[in-house]
Amino acid sequence: MPQGHRIRLGRLFGIPVEITPSWILLSILVVWSFWARYTTVFHHRSDGVAVAMAVAATIILLGSILLHELGHAVMGRARKLRVSAITLYIFGGATTASDPTNPLDEFLFTLIGPTVNLVLALGLWGATGLADGANLAAIAQVTGEAAWLNLLLGGFNLVPAAPLDGGHLLEAVAWRITKDRPRAIRISARAGAGLGGGLIGLGVLELLMVRGGLVEGLWLGLIGYMLFEGARSEATRAWVEQVLKGKPASVLLTEHAAPVTSDTSVGWLVNSEFARHHVDAVPVEDHGHTVGMVLAADALAVPERQRLHTTAGDVMRPMSSLPQEPSDADALEILRLLSDHPLVALVGADQHVIGAVSQRQVGMVLERLHYLAADNPTWTHS
Ligand SMILES: [Zn+2]
Repeated sequence: MPQGHRIRLGRLFGIPVEITPSWILLSILVVWSFWARYTTVFHHRSDGVAVAMAVAATIILLGSILLHELGHAVMGRARKLRVSAITLYIFGGATTASDPTNPLDEFLFTLIGPTVNLVLALGLWGATGLADGANLAAIAQVTGEAAWLNLLLGGFNLVPAAPLDGGHLLEAVAWRITKDRPRAIRISARAGAGLGGGLIGLGVLELLMVRGGLVEGLWLGLIGYMLFEGARSEATRAWVEQVLKGKPASVLLTEHAAPVTSDTSVGWLVNSEFARHHVDAVPVEDHGHTVGMVLAADALAVPERQRLHTTAGDVMRPMSSLPQEPSDADALEILRLLSDHPLVALVGADQHVIGAVSQRQVGMVLERLHYLAADNPTWTHS
């Protein structure tokens, strides 16, 4: 999934809708390419009509992508997944949701997206028929093309290869049959790597063999590359799921954090705790009870000359504001929580906090496990 800066547009059904700056660039490009097309198709009309048609076609196309994602989001909610955001970026969109815990949830959550496009295609063809009947050629042109694009969107997304929706459908079916999710993800990732590689090959062929095939060849290659990369990260996901399956959350802690008292200076924490240990947060205990945690990021945010006079109690976050899990909870559940929270505190058997797991720590632990797993095929590593 694309990272980086996002702009919040608003909420739909309570779900935040965000765009990346690349999306704005895409919208301008799409308007321009529709306009270029309509000025040739409708050369006898005024420029104003072509511009209006291009804008309308762009709104329908980008709206269709948004509705596809909204379909995933609403279905995700209905299947009790935690849906956190819809992001629109240059090649479509993504709905961020917690991992489904059974094949049926994954199947339904995925299937709704392409279904929305196929239904939209039918609706748009209906509208085209009406516009044709009323002799509204410009409207019929726009809705007719939008119908084809929705058919293409729905159809392409149904190709059974990760990371496309079809890949997740294949994964859900394979998961149901084999009862082995990591294996199911690997099957779908292999199909994705194959499809991506095939498209890259076709792109190169087109570039070399077809006259004037430069732009199309580059597009094919780019789409192939994105599929290949997406498939690779799915394969990594399968590997992570496999190595962490059935493991306790405590394996994700690189080190147990020694508790400090609330009058400990932040200067000491930075120089002695965070500088020397692989911990991202330290528990603060008063009278034998954990009252909060000091996050390394919060401690480092205190200006250097004030650190000696600032205490752990000044900068700590109260335990009530941090997600907590028992140290023997499922490690995969901690990964799920980390998609919504910067860190998760782990509570030991004696009710004392033994440390906090962060994305950074998970990365270090996985790297370590990967290094130790000699039989692991290297291509699953990203
Ligand atoms: Zn989708």
